[in-house]
Amino acid sequence: MKILVINTGSSSIKYELFDMDHRQILASGMAEKIGEDKSILTHTKILASGESVTKIEEGVIADHHQGLNRIVDLLIDKEHGVIQDKSEISAVGHRVVHGGEDFHATTVIDEKVIAAIKENIPLAPLHNPANLAGIEVATSIFPDAPQVAVFDTAFHQTIPMRAFLYAIPFELYQKDRVRRYGFHGTSHAYVAERAADYLGQPLSELNLITIHLGNGASMAAVEKGKCIDTSMGMTPLAGLVMGTRSGDLDPAIPFFLADYLRMSLKDIDTLLNKDSGLKGMCGANDMREVIEKKNAGDEQAKIALEVYTYRIKKYIGAYFAALENLDGIVFTAGIGENSAEIRELCCRGLNKLGIEIDLERNSKPGKEIREISSPGSEVKILVIPTNEELKIAQETRKVIEAES
Ligand code: AMP
Repeated sequence: MKILVINTGSSSIKYELFDMDHRQILASGMAEKIGEDKSILTHTKILASGESVTKIEEGVIADHHQGLNRIVDLLIDKEHGVIQDKSEISAVGHRVVHGGEDFHATTVIDEKVIAAIKENIPLAPLHNPANLAGIEVATSIFPDAPQVAVFDTAFHQTIPMRAFLYAIPFELYQKDRVRRYGFHGTSHAYVAERAADYLGQPLSELNLITIHLGNGASMAAVEKGKCIDTSMGMTPLAGLVMGTRSGDLDPAIPFFLADYLRMSLKDIDTLLNKDSGLKGMCGANDMREVIEKKNAGDEQAKIALEVYTYRIKKYIGAYFAALENLDGIVFTAGIGENSAEIRELCCRGLNKLGIEIDLERNSKPGKEIREISSPGSEVKILVIPTNEELKIAQETRKVIEAES
C-alpha cells in the first residue's frame, strides 16, 4: 500500500510517499514559494539502496493545484519517478494543524470533517486554510483515494480540564473555545510509542515526558499513553523558549507594550512570534549558531542558552509532579536529537529526582534511538528521532483499514 503524506502551508507543499508494505520511503520533497515569481520544487527519489537522487526545478507555480500536479508528474516521471501511475496511491494523509475539540483522533475526510476544520479557522487562522487548500486539491487530483486528516492537536485532547482551562471567565471557554490545545501531537505520540517499543513495555504502563526541541518546541506529560499536559497553549506561542517565539511570559506584557511603547497589536504579534525566543535574546534563531556564538564568548548567546534550558528544566519538574511517577524522558527533533550540550543542561542537577544523564553516552552522536541515562538512573533518558510524516502515514493506513 502506497500512502502520500502532504503538509500544505500557505505557499508550500511538503510531501513524502511511503510504501507501507515494504516499510520504505520512496520519495520526498517540497514545493516552495507557490504563487511567487520564482517557485522552487525540490524532489528526492530514494533508491532501494538507500541512496537518493535530488532534482530541483525552478519556475512559476501559480497555486497549490498546479503545485500538487507538478509533484504528481515527478512521482510518475520516467527518470525521477517512483510509481507508474497515480492510481497506485491508495490514500493521502494530510497534516492538519487545528482540530479544536472536534477531533480526538485521525479521521477520514468527508464534508462534515471539512466543515469542522473550517470552523476551527479562528483558532489557527494561518494554518487551517492552507491545510484545507491541500485537502481540496488532493481530492480533485486523487478523486478515488481516501483523504485522511491527522491533527496536530488530537493527541492532546485527553488533557484534563484542570490542565487545559485558563483561569479566566468560564464563558470564554464555553462560548469562544479559549483553552489549551497543544500542538506537535503527532511527534509526541510517535516518540512515546517508540520509547515503549525500546523499553519493551506497553505504553499503557509507562509515564513519560516527551521533549520536542525543533524550531518550534514543546513538551508533553504522557501518563500511561495518554497526554495529561503540554506546554503549548491555545496557540503555539506558549511554553518553552523557541527559535523566534517567546514561549511563556507575563500576560500583562502586551498591555505594557501597547500602553507604554504604543505598539500595535500586529507589531506585538510579530514581536512575540517572529522576533523573540533565541533570536530576540541573542540575534540567532538557529541553535547551532547560538552555540557557536556562545563558544566564541558571546555573553548574550550564553544567557539565551541558560534561559532556554532553565525553562525546559522547570517543565521537567512540573511534569514530574503532574505525573507523580516518571519512567522516562524523551528528547526529540533537531535540537533534542543532535545537541548533547542542551540535553545535558536540561537534566543537570536532577539526580535527586532519579534523572541521571551519562555524559559519555550523551556525547555520542547517532541517528538511531538511544539511551543516554546512566545505568543506575531510575528514569530512563532516551533520544528518539521523530518522524511525523511516517506517523501520519501509519495513522492513515490504520483508519482506512478500519473503514474497509
Ligand atoms: P527542526 O525544526 O526539528 O528541524 O529543528 C531545527 C533546529 O535544530 C535548529 O535550531 C537547528 O539549529 C537545530 N539543530 C540541528 N542540528 C543541530 C546540532 N547538531 N546541534 C544543535 N542544534 C541543531
